[in-house]
Amino acid sequence: MAIQILDVNEGHADYLCDESRRVGHAETICFPRSTTEVAQALEAASTNGWPVTIQGGRTGITGGCVPDGGLILNLSRMNAIGEINGDTMAVQPGALLADIRKAVGGGGDPALFFPSDLTETTASIGGMVANNASGARSFRYGAVRNWIQALEVVLANGETIHVERGVHKADGLGFKLGGIEGMLPDLSHLRRCDGIKNAAGYFVKPDMDLVDLFIGAEGTLGVVTEITIRLLPEPGQMNGLTAFFAAEEEALEFVRFLRGAGPGARPSAIEFFDCQSLALLRRMKAENAAFSDLPKLESGCRTAIYFEFDCEVPDAVVEKADEAVDCWFAEGAHEIEALKKFRHAIPESVNMLIGERKKTIPELTKLGTDMSVPDDRLEDVMRMYHDGLAEAGLEYVIFGHIGNNHVHVNILPRSMAEYEAGRALYFDWAKQVVEWGGSVSAEHGIGKLKTSFLELMYGEEGIEKMRVLKTLFDRDGRLNPGNLFI
Ligand SMILES: Cc1cc2nc3c(=O)[nH]c(=O)nc-3n(C[C@H](O)[C@H](O)[C@H](O)COP(=O)(O)OP(=O)(O)OC[C@H]3O[C@@H](n4cnc5c(N)ncnc54)[C@H](O)[C@@H]3O)c2cc1C
Repeated sequence: MAIQILDVNEGHADYLCDESRRVGHAETICFPRSTTEVAQALEAASTNGWPVTIQGGRTGITGGCVPDGGLILNLSRMNAIGEINGDTMAVQPGALLADIRKAVGGGGDPALFFPSDLTETTASIGGMVANNASGARSFRYGAVRNWIQALEVVLANGETIHVERGVHKADGLGFKLGGIEGMLPDLSHLRRCDGIKNAAGYFVKPDMDLVDLFIGAEGTLGVVTEITIRLLPEPGQMNGLTAFFAAEEEALEFVRFLRGAGPGARPSAIEFFDCQSLALLRRMKAENAAFSDLPKLESGCRTAIYFEFDCEVPDAVVEKADEAVDCWFAEGAHEIEALKKFRHAIPESVNMLIGERKKTIPELTKLGTDMSVPDDRLEDVMRMYHDGLAEAGLEYVIFGHIGNNHVHVNILPRSMAEYEAGRALYFDWAKQVVEWGGSVSAEHGIGKLKTSFLELMYGEEGIEKMRVLKTLFDRDGRLNPGNLFI
């Protein structure tokens, strides 16, 4: 039976936005259940000249799945999770991270786990692949790219290809995939952020595994219709600690100490909460019943580092953490989950706060950064954020993946004038981060909201080369137009 194409105006208006709150427009929508139906949808789009916007869980925060006319290809009904096969598992793109975790942690022998741990567990695996998503534990386990063995992809011309790590490789920069062959663009002299956490633009390098082309491509090269993920044996033990400090400098010094903990003693996560984040949590606990069960924070706790070990916590680390103002300890996945609720409470509080402000200023949104810098720029970047925000008089919180020098600054504007001031500041920061050899997006991707940032990183020449690559796979520019570049 042919795929059903529906009118967006008939009860599907909810599908016009994602978590960035950008609202798009489209004429038609479909919900394929199989690879064949995806190919049928692309054929219909080609016949009718529709641009196609691919959607997973719509938790993205850069507008990547927000349509700009044409057909919405929503993959939420392609959510089957296969059987575990050795250390791999095949899943459909619409499967949610929470459901994959449940399926993997179902008590198998040996017990296995999927190392990708986004804060937002209603993200779909297809969206995670498209954005090369990360999580707190990426400090040890890396981004989702590391855990993808193979992909099935439907290309814009309707052809279905299968790409497997270790099997389908580029020859230098030359490649052939299905009926498509050509040269990958040489971005090496433009890409200045090797070794930095990075989800900005295409991943290209000589002799690469071709599966990596589609990871982080934000749906611009093809529709991912099946994913084979790799699993790891579950660690024998997990320990999580939150150490509180009186000053941010002490917290940063502790981060450097943790990074140097040595081979075999590498933490799986190192996360940061600044003074304003802790103040926001104190306020939410006092004022909002939904946050009343958050643990009480002593008054001397002004900055915090949350860190996790998938092994016994080394003695030297315990001793150092004892010097902190306060330290909370959690053992095993269950107790760690409780500590993580504390971490999750920050973005939740931010969203509630902005939600309140939107009631009087509907156009207002938060401004959230997602940039990473090299190790030796950690203190510089933190100083840059604090100084700029203080000078502009903006309200903000800073939290996130400090182990990878990747924190999220959330600017919380109280007026449109503050929103514009925050945007200008963010753009200046992005220029500086690029100068330092960092990335303008470490995990959220570029989507439609950060295309000017990608140009800062790669220049016009780099963007042009990326355009040429897209054209090889998608001659008419039909898939996810507006993502990465305009
Ligand atoms: C509270 C909160 C916390 C978050 N925490 C994290 C975090 O810890 N780490 C992190 O990395 N991100 C985080 N995010 C961002 C978001 O969850 C990720 O970007 C996630 O990868 C998006 O997945 P999705 O299924 O929702 O994708 P969508 O938002 O639906 O789409 C994202 C992009 O992927 C494309 N796409 C989706 N499916 C496919 C497919 N099958 N084939 C090709 N392209 C596809 C879309 O077109 C779009 O460009 C967070 C978001 C929120 C709201």
